Amino acid sequence: MPKITVAGSSFDRAADESVLDALLRHGVAVPNSCRKGACQSCMMRAMDGYVPAEAQAGLKETFVHEGYFLACQCRPDGDLTLASPDNNAAFQPATVVFTEALGETVHRVVLSPETPLHYHAGQFINLRRPDGLIRSYSLASLPGTIPELEIHVKRLPGGAVSTWLCDTIKAGDPVEVSAPAGTCFYLPTREPQNMLLIGTGTGLAPLFSIARDALHAGHQGGIHLYHGSRSRDGLYRHHPLRDLHAAHDNFHYHPCVSGRDVPDDCIPGRADAVALHEFGNLAGWRVYLCGLPAMVHAARTQAYLKGASLADIHADAFELAGRDENRGAADEAATG
Ligand SMILES: Cc1cc2nc3c(=O)[nH]c(=O)nc-3n(C[C@H](O)[C@H](O)[C@H](O)COP(=O)(O)OP(=O)(O)OC[C@H]3O[C@@H](n4cnc5c(N)ncnc54)[C@H](O)[C@@H]3O)c2cc1C
Repeated sequence: MPKITVAGSSFDRAADESVLDALLRHGVAVPNSCRKGACQSCMMRAMDGYVPAEAQAGLKETFVHEGYFLACQCRPDGDLTLASPDNNAAFQPATVVFTEALGETVHRVVLSPETPLHYHAGQFINLRRPDGLIRSYSLASLPGTIPELEIHVKRLPGGAVSTWLCDTIKAGDPVEVSAPAGTCFYLPTREPQNMLLIGTGTGLAPLFSIARDALHAGHQGGIHLYHGSRSRDGLYRHHPLRDLHAAHDNFHYHPCVSGRDVPDDCIPGRADAVALHEFGNLAGWRVYLCGLPAMVHAARTQAYLKGASLADIHADAFELAGRDENRGAADEAATG
């Protein structure tokens, strides 16, 4: 049976068991959340042994070179020796500045970190509650303008952290935030490039940041943002986005409602279906996909089939913690 060694103690690991599951089974405290390789909260460092490439997918090059990997995605053939998980190094204190309802189920939460974060538009943070529970939230704020961080949280019935963020926390409360993570972010280009942004539910948060950052940077090329929800109430940034649309010739906002009762100023249908029907050829485009995992995975394939290069498709699937792959419908209720 393969072994994992941490801080001088060795633990057995079943062949098909992830490093994270094995360590948790043996009582080793490793921070974790989505367990699907998306949130990066279970990142650990290998000091000896071979880490499979899939356990380093999506990590920064420097982290890969230093032997960091995602414990939830790591099922190595042989033994591994790991640096001790430092459960505090990755987080810093932050204070809640204010919270505000942006509709029936979405709340805007503004946080002030002790040390300002340097992040790219589109990245996410991991937020740790005082009891240690960790969840990921994308940054909706505009990088480089104000030190406060804005996140958009969808209240999920029975959801531990989202109900707490939407219903309980108040100005002045302490939380902890990680360094920014994720590779679904905007970098300015000199060449004009069209951009297609598709988000469902609070998948709008990173796109709201990306669109404004691109406009702020004087992006040349069209920016087409499709926001989808089952009801009009879920299009929780409708008016600011309409204003942005009116103010910039190259920014186009397309609000999509997939349920019944589609208001006159919205497009009927799912955001990804509407957007990908609209554009026949995405060669040379940059594509951003955020929100419901089923939408993100399907739209990534469609965008590729329509000519976008894989290097130009950036995606953040909002994987829910502790959910299995077969709960697509429940996830849609939660994040759509
Ligand atoms: C990269 C990334 C970025 C993200 N960005 C955002 C964002 O910007 N905004 C946002 O709102 N969310 C975002 N998420 C999702 C977020 O991290 C949380 O997963 C989400 O807020 C739910 O957390 P929770 O603690 O409230 O719910 P949990 O307590 O984790 O529960 C999730 C849902 O599953 C249900 N559930 C829990 N356990 C079970 C079970 N055993 N059987 C059946 N149902 C169950 C709950 O009732 C709830 O509806 C992101 C996720 C990732 C990975």
